[in-house]
Amino acid sequence: MLFPTTIAGSLPKPEWLAEPNRLWAPWKPAGDELVSAKRDATLLALKLQETAGIDIVTEGEQARQHFVHGFLENVAGIDFAHKVEMGIRADRYKAMVPQVVAPLTLKDRVHAFEARAARAHTTHQLKFTLPGPMTIVDTVADSHYGDRVKMAFAFAELLNQEARALEADGVDVIQFDEPAFNVYMGEVKTWGIEALQRAAEGLSCTTAVHICYGYGIKANTDWKATLGGEWRQYEDIFPAIAQSTIQQVAIECRNSRVPLDLLALLPGKTVQAGVIDVASDIVETPEDVADTIAAVMKFVPRDRIIATTNCGMAPMRRDIAEAKLKALGAGAKLARDRFDDPEAPW
Ligand code: ZN
Repeated sequence: MLFPTTIAGSLPKPEWLAEPNRLWAPWKPAGDELVSAKRDATLLALKLQETAGIDIVTEGEQARQHFVHGFLENVAGIDFAHKVEMGIRADRYKAMVPQVVAPLTLKDRVHAFEARAARAHTTHQLKFTLPGPMTIVDTVADSHYGDRVKMAFAFAELLNQEARALEADGVDVIQFDEPAFNVYMGEVKTWGIEALQRAAEGLSCTTAVHICYGYGIKANTDWKATLGGEWRQYEDIFPAIAQSTIQQVAIECRNSRVPLDLLALLPGKTVQAGVIDVASDIVETPEDVADTIAAVMKFVPRDRIIATTNCGMAPMRRDIAEAKLKALGAGAKLARDRFDDPEAPW
């Protein structure tokens, strides 16, 4: 089937699970009640995607507070009690971040609970997201390794352990989120991709990397305004990603200033094309979605296009996120109707 659909990863959390419309939203329930609320929210996230016609579903990241810290919480060797201020994403944000103070090891499985809950309740293909090693080391302070690259490979080893276990849980696609990849282009080529491949080593399920210009929060939209009329960061790194073992590349295409011709630098990769803008509350029409798919088709063979959201929808309003999911499903179907004739002169 042409243009299967998926989402970047996260969906907004129900208001009974966490405070709505914000990142880092504190949990509302506690203890056992929190555990069952996370599970219920996971099942709800699956249902909403299935109803909307999403083919490759996720657990909506309902069981983690943040896409990086959800992983770090289960890593030993990190001191969360003494956070320090650090400029992250090349100083775009100042954040209070935990410190690595000892050799890193996994305390236990990180995402077994929600991955297994999701697997038990959907027959669709299941995608699971993990933060990439470069993005992790850009989000914690190093007081132990004394070397960013060494620390990245230590995290890559832990990510690999969890990724292999997720695969054993029945996950079909593992996606590493690397928003740091369009910030540190030089380092992506010298060690970022290598660390990512270490994280994905030995997996037989599908592997993907999501690179992006971030959630639709103010710090990101302000930063994007400084990037000029065309965002050509990917020109620098796509040739290196094309050489990597990672099979799919997810990038934003809807309302993005990334020139879509850069996608031609990813021969052989499946492109998860973002056709839903998460930085705008304006809900796309199915025609908008089909038109974005058509634009991507100029540079990516149609059988290598997956339709997705530009980024996670965690901080969005639930009703808007739901409407956007429906537009994604309906738009991909429309594109299938339009473009399923391989002889057509598109
Ligand atoms: Zn993203």
